[in-house]
Amino acid sequence: MSITPPPFRKKPHVNLSELAKYADLFDRLTDSAFLLDAESSQIVDCNASSERAYQVPREELLGKAFLDWLEEDQRETFSQALRIAKRRYYPRQVNGWVRLPDGQRRLMDFVVCVLLLSNDLQVVQVISKDVTREYEAEERSKQYLLEIQQANRKLEEMSITDEMTKAYNFRHFKLSLQAEHARASRYKTTYSIIFCDMDNFKHYNDHNGHPAGDELLKHFAKLVKDSSRAVDLVARYGGEEFVVLCPETDLEGAHVLAERMRALVASTPFAFAEHQPLGCMSISIGVSNYPLDGETAQSIVEAADQGVYFSKKNGRNRVTTYQSIKDIPQGEVEKKKEVA
Ligand code: GH3
Ligand code: MG
Ligand code: MG
Repeated sequence: MSITPPPFRKKPHVNLSELAKYADLFDRLTDSAFLLDAESSQIVDCNASSERAYQVPREELLGKAFLDWLEEDQRETFSQALRIAKRRYYPRQVNGWVRLPDGQRRLMDFVVCVLLLSNDLQVVQVISKDVTREYEAEERSKQYLLEIQQANRKLEEMSITDEMTKAYNFRHFKLSLQAEHARASRYKTTYSIIFCDMDNFKHYNDHNGHPAGDELLKHFAKLVKDSSRAVDLVARYGGEEFVVLCPETDLEGAHVLAERMRALVASTPFAFAEHQPLGCMSISIGVSNYPLDGETAQSIVEAADQGVYFSKKNGRNRVTTYQSIKDIPQGEVEKKKEVA
């Protein structure tokens, strides 16, 4: 014999909140609660929390225009929320700064909605929660975040910059060159390298002191940066050697740029430059181009370096493209020097 379970009895639905008294909820609410006259927006009732939060006894709150609590520039937003709440019959949420009797500014989160009373009248219920601390905590964390971002940017900048000359450092040049090379070989585009070595810099140090040499390097780096284009990357390769990576630049364009730099350096009245062996401060430059001068990034740098070597061997203060010397045997370069 089987046992049949008793039939499931569904409880009749009871909306317990209907049994609660609104007055109890109103008074026990830990947030401030106000009832406003729907027409005038004057306070017609308020709970105990509102006395504490707004620092005014209930008797003084009653009859006060609610908008008066709000700072002037906040009133229109609140009034608009009131209008919408009345029209649409669903709660509107709005924030506003209020000025308390002791002078404090507090940020309140208001939830505004219309209540239909049993006598068919309407009131507007405003529940006000003080969110100043949350707001201040959020502002503080935004500020911390900003400071961390600024510190990170500074660190990032420091990690790619040569401290003395403020040009990019060698590591950044190397990474940028790899990226540019990968891009150029993939998209079959071009780039050029301008390699500069200051002439007789040891002479300059020996005659004017190392600190004067440092100043000259800074001045020189600024000059090269100012005379190159925004897309060019000027880096200190090491010591008194600088390199300019020129993206999307053919050999002719880079040659023109290099010649301009050389002439500019030679004509700039650097301190004590007139005592240099050539009567001015000067640089020897080598220019190379991808894809003309090699297949790898390393070979393009080496080609520019050979250009510098040739410029040095042929009197300094000059620009040499690798293309113009690539067919000259190494020994011939030396011979040219002896002839010079
Ligand atoms: P060249 O025309 O053949 O290039 O001659 P040079 O004297 O410029 O070349 P050399 O390689 O003989 O000497 C480079 C000098 O650069 C020697 C070194 O002390 C100096 N130098 C390198 N880095 C710095 C620096 O940061 N500050 C100063 N003041 N001098 C530096
Ligand atoms: Mg050198
Ligand atoms: Mg040098």
